Amino acid sequence: MLATAQNNIRQAATRLGYDEKTIEAILEAEAEHIFEVEVGGKTYPAYRIQHNSKLGPYKGGIRFHPGVNIDEVRALATLMSFKTAAVGLPLGGGKGGIAVDPRELSLAEVEELSRRYARHLAPHIGSDKDIPAPDVNTNAEIIDWMVDEFEKTAGKDDKGSFTGKSMTNGGSLGRPAATGRGGVITLVEYLRSQGTLEKPLTVALQGFGNVGYYFAEVLRAYPNLKLIAISNSKYTWVQPDGIDITKTTGSVGTPRPEHLTDLAGIEPQPNTDIIGVKADILVLAALEDAVVEANVDQVQAPIIVELANGPTSDRAEVILEKNGAIILPDIIANAGGVIVSYLEWQQNLAQESWTEEVVNAKLEDFLQKASKEMIARAEAKGISLRQAAFEIALDRLL
Ligand code: NAD
Repeated sequence: MLATAQNNIRQAATRLGYDEKTIEAILEAEAEHIFEVEVGGKTYPAYRIQHNSKLGPYKGGIRFHPGVNIDEVRALATLMSFKTAAVGLPLGGGKGGIAVDPRELSLAEVEELSRRYARHLAPHIGSDKDIPAPDVNTNAEIIDWMVDEFEKTAGKDDKGSFTGKSMTNGGSLGRPAATGRGGVITLVEYLRSQGTLEKPLTVALQGFGNVGYYFAEVLRAYPNLKLIAISNSKYTWVQPDGIDITKTTGSVGTPRPEHLTDLAGIEPQPNTDIIGVKADILVLAALEDAVVEANVDQVQAPIIVELANGPTSDRAEVILEKNGAIILPDIIANAGGVIVSYLEWQQNLAQESWTEEVVNAKLEDFLQKASKEMIARAEAKGISLRQAAFEIALDRLL
């Protein structure tokens, strides 16, 4: 993923005429915090990469996952810098994580882990320096612990130091749905630009966690865009007549991967089948490297929406483009989350609390504008949407 991200930046920068020294400088992180967190007698590698702060404080999530490693965090931090720039936010890019499987820890241990992580980073973060947020396997409860620990360690109130907080602790309405909603806004904007928004189209969705669930939920406002397949880490469910997501087991409204264990009346298939489902649109909302050289030939959908970060490898992308597929790139398509994080930060700084309608309207404004800009540049220069988005970000960053 790091190689893919850097490759995209190099290509865009070279086309815009930047010299090698400038390109090397923009690839380099401004600061890297690499440490260990000890809990229950075990130590876990921990990271916070602060990639670029040219446009504002670093911004990016914290991930708890056994697969977290330095290159992954570097890649995600780099993508954040380009994402915030591509959508025009006055924020930079960063990312953090701990290489841990939180399911192997008790809740008390997860709290201790979160607090120690925040305590270690306290001198380097804050609402005017670096504003972390939740990512895979972290949530509002974990962020609330981190804010509390940060405020205690720094000796000041600073609710704008993290986003993704609970509502009672200064969170924003609309945040849980923001990334999925943003994916729908970007897709709709693209279809509108092609004159196909009113056409009946089918959608296959990989990943049914926070992002995938809300994407499916918001998509219900467009009945001609029919969800015909969904998957999680275990299964794929295909239903050509359309899937009613309200029939998924588990409590709708509290999407958790484990809640999607069954879909009434549909025979589950292996999780890998989702990639090859015959649909007009394939939405990747699980993890990075979902479409790679080894499985790219299975992809049938001519439109791919990247809601995970880095779900398409650059080699797979070359093949997809050769086959005429269009990719709505992660740095725009999944930017809804960071846009509403920015809106949460603004509410905290102004000590205000906006309604969900206000938040959603602002989110839509940002993403419609960013999508239009990307599509117009791609068409004008005959380049991919991803390359257009990276060029727009580079223009702002350099
Ligand atoms: P999540 O943990 O809530 O959900 C992840 C989903 O992916 C689950 O349904 C899980 O079962 C599924 N999954 C995992 N491995 C899979 C596989 N091999 N095949 C199919 N499904 C698989 O996480 P999330 O918050 O929904 O994030 C999903 C992705 O979106 C991540 O890459 C994350 O970095 C990215 N992202 C999230 C946000 C956000 O606001 N949450 C913002 C930007 C990007």
